Amino acid sequence: MSTVLSKQDPEVFNLIQKETARQEYGLEMIPSENFVSEAVLEAMGSTLTNKYAEGLPHKRYYGGCEVVDSVEELANARCEKLFGAEFVNSQPHSGAQANQAAYEALLTPGDVVMGMRLDQGGHLTHGSPVNFSGKHYKIVAYGVRESDHLIDYDELMHLARTHRPKMIICGASAYSRRIEFDKFRKAADEVGAFVLADIAHYAGLVAAGDYPSPVAFADIVTTTTHKTLRGPRSGLIMAKAAHAKAINKAVFPGLQGGPHMHTIAAKAVAFAEALQPAFKSYSKAVIKNAQALSLALIGKGFKIVSGGTDSHLLVVDLRPANVTGKVAEQALDRVGITVNKNTIPFDPQPPTVCSGIRLGTPALTTRGMGVNEMRQIADFISDLVQHHEDPAKLESLRADVRSLAQKFPLYKDRLVR
Ligand SMILES: *Cc1c(COP(=O)(O)O)cnc(C)c1O
Repeated sequence: MSTVLSKQDPEVFNLIQKETARQEYGLEMIPSENFVSEAVLEAMGSTLTNKYAEGLPHKRYYGGCEVVDSVEELANARCEKLFGAEFVNSQPHSGAQANQAAYEALLTPGDVVMGMRLDQGGHLTHGSPVNFSGKHYKIVAYGVRESDHLIDYDELMHLARTHRPKMIICGASAYSRRIEFDKFRKAADEVGAFVLADIAHYAGLVAAGDYPSPVAFADIVTTTTHKTLRGPRSGLIMAKAAHAKAINKAVFPGLQGGPHMHTIAAKAVAFAEALQPAFKSYSKAVIKNAQALSLALIGKGFKIVSGGTDSHLLVVDLRPANVTGKVAEQALDRVGITVNKNTIPFDPQPPTVCSGIRLGTPALTTRGMGVNEMRQIADFISDLVQHHEDPAKLESLRADVRSLAQKFPLYKDRLVR
């Protein structure tokens, strides 16, 4: 196969080939990753990348926006339908930008904000001291109970009464159970706070109706579009109509310049895909696979944080196997299983080492894998963790991983051989 890029710039072409092969022949188990459709890729690689369109549809600061106005309106309308949202801004470049815009829309620097602890499942943008959120706002962090690893709603209520935050953030990056968004609304109402629900991880499951929706309870809902929602790498904001103006101003001119119209087109494509019945089956299969993987790992003697999962992800406590997250991540990488090390609640190890790994099923489910493959992968993981210092074992597992991946072709037509 020869393409324009392969002729003009073989260096970049070959790197893209290498990455495509890595995705094709490995097992992608990072829960925040997924594989987009050819249609989403095509929209992202389109001429829309050339267009400046600062402002909103029909209120732009540039000429020639008739077509991209329609693109953005289509994306917003499809998103409103998908989530039942009153208002959508599809311009945020990523989940982090969407969150920053939500802070800007509702708060003043120095305000008190509550967010979930990073080391118990929260996200950097929910108040980490190294992030804008922790630098510019007074953060009060809530977490999970030590006994069952579930969000401690009593603690949440107590902290809210004590610190009277202006905003409470719910949503997480490494929490496998259902989040009770109504309880966040209740705590917020008691102290007059806004609720920001960040469903970056769960969005696809929420859209399909398989995970609780915060849309009725939250003032603002932010999300990424590339995790379970399976769209392009980007973000978006939904909200009650009352916050529309403040959000629009926060996104532009507050934080961003020109919206990425090619990505907004790709988001529109992904929303239409998510509105199809096939996406509902996909979402159900994602959760079923995560639960099967969790059960199989428990059968192998591993512990799962909170005992299991209601979603697309699980956090494995590796202490019974006597390896750290760091060692497991590196060993799994060597055989072609991509995961990330993760802290477990009340982790005795520092965050650079971690006692756990975080696993997710969205990407493998997109390839068509099911419960049998999850059991097979649990065998691989268990085998590897026990023999991670045995080069021969690593070699044979590497071959097993590759042959499993090859049974579920992904972007095969994009590979030159
Ligand atoms: C992934 C994630 C984000 C950030 O998304 P980016 O697109 O990487 O900026 C924000 N919030 C949560 C909860 C996430 O999991």
